[in-house]
Amino acid sequence: MNVLTRKSLDIDAIRADFPILQTLVNGHQLVYLDNGASSQKPLYVIDAMDTYWKQTNANVHRGVHHLSQKATQQFDAARETMRVFLNASSSKEVIFTAGCTASINLVAQTWGRTNIQAGDEILISTMEHHSNIVPWQLLADQVGAVIKVIPMTDAGEIELDVYEKLLSDKTKLVGIVHVSNSLGTINPVKEMIQLAHKAGAKVLVDGAQAAPHMRIDVQALDADFYVVSCHKMYAPTGIGVLYGKQQLLEAMPPYQGGGDMIYTVSFEKTTYAELPYKFEAGTPNIAGVIGLGASVEYLATLGQQLLGDSEGSLSQNLDACFGWIEEREAELLAYGTAAISDISGLKLTGTAAHKAGILAFTLDCAHPHDVGTVLDNQGIAVRTGHHCCMPVMTRLGIPATTRASIGLYNTFEDIDDLVAGIKRVKELFG
Ligand code: PMP
Repeated sequence: MNVLTRKSLDIDAIRADFPILQTLVNGHQLVYLDNGASSQKPLYVIDAMDTYWKQTNANVHRGVHHLSQKATQQFDAARETMRVFLNASSSKEVIFTAGCTASINLVAQTWGRTNIQAGDEILISTMEHHSNIVPWQLLADQVGAVIKVIPMTDAGEIELDVYEKLLSDKTKLVGIVHVSNSLGTINPVKEMIQLAHKAGAKVLVDGAQAAPHMRIDVQALDADFYVVSCHKMYAPTGIGVLYGKQQLLEAMPPYQGGGDMIYTVSFEKTTYAELPYKFEAGTPNIAGVIGLGASVEYLATLGQQLLGDSEGSLSQNLDACFGWIEEREAELLAYGTAAISDISGLKLTGTAAHKAGILAFTLDCAHPHDVGTVLDNQGIAVRTGHHCCMPVMTRLGIPATTRASIGLYNTFEDIDDLVAGIKRVKELFG
C-alpha cells in the first residue's frame, strides 16, 4: 500500500478496499450500518485468506513439511500481531477461540469453576450482552454462586455509586462490557477495574464492540481477562481472542481436551501443553487467524498512511489509525445524533455522555422490524430486535430497537440516507 504524507485518510479509497460496499440492494447502493453485528472485510483480509488456501494450506504445529511450516509461521505471526493489538505483555496471554462467546464460556468454566464457590458473588451489569450473562448463570447454577446486577441509568450509564456498594469481599468476578452493543455507552472500565481489584475481585471485560473502534491496552486497563470478537473488527467470523493475565491462565485448568493442548498423554496421566496451547484443543481456525492478523495489518497500513513517511512500528501505526477512527466515528455519531433527534416521534435509546458510534432508536409509529424492512427496501442495512440484550430492553420498558452502527468506511452520506429512510418509514406508517 502507498505511504502517503497526509494527516487524514481518503474515505473513498478506504471504501474501495471493501468490495461488498459496491453491492446493489433492492436497486440501491448498499448503505451498511450493521457493523455492531458484523463488519465487512477488506480485500487485504480476503486476499490473505485466499492466498493461504491457495498456497500455504496445511495443519499447523505438527508438520515438518514446507506447507505446515509456512502455515505455522503465519499463524504464530498473527498471535504476535494480536499481542501488539492488545498490548499484552506476552503472546502466551493471547488465546485464540471461536469468538467472544467462546472466550467468556472458557473463563467461566475454567477460572470460574476453580475460583468461585457457593455463596460467592458475580457482578455483571444490566447492559451486558447475553454472552456475558448466560455463561455466568450456568456457572452460578453449577457452584451455587450468586449473580448481582449493576444497574444503569435511563441514559444507559453504569450507576457507579451503586457498583461501588455492591462490591464486597464476596465478589469474586466483575463482568463488564467495554462498549455496549445495544446503547453505545463506553463504560469507565479502568475505574471499575481499580474498584474491583480493591475489593479483591477479578474483572473480565467484554471488548467485542470496543476493539473495532478504539485502541485497546490491556496492561493500562489492568484487565484480568479481555475478550474480543474478531468478525466485528474487519476479520473473518469464527475467530475470537481471549486475553488473560499469564499468572491467571497458568493456574487455570484446561477447558477442552484433545490434540495440541497436551504435552504427554498416557492412560495413567496426561500433562498439558504450555500457554497459550493449553487452551487451544484441536486444529484451530487457521485461515481465520491469518485473516485476523491481516485485519490488524490493514488497520496498521491506514495508520502508516496517516503517519506519512516515518515508518512507524505496528503499535505506532495502530495508535495513529485508532486516533483517526475515534475522531471520525465521533463526528459521524454527533452528526447522526443531531439529524435523527430532529425526527418527530423518534426516541434515541442510549444517550450516555461517553458513546461509541451506535444510533439505536424507537419510532412511535412503527415497530423496529417494520423500520428495518422499509430501510432494507432502500438498501440500508441496520439491525432490529433486542440485540442479545433483553435485560436492557426490560430496563427501558421497550421490546426492541432499530440500531444503526458505524464502521470505519461509513460516510456522512450514509447517515443522510438513514435519516431519509426513517422519514420514508414515517410516511408509510405515520
Ligand atoms: N458481546 C458483545 C458486546 C457483542 O456485541 C457480541 C456480538 N454481538 C458478543 C459479545 C458476542 O460475540 P461473538 O459473536 O464473537 O460470540
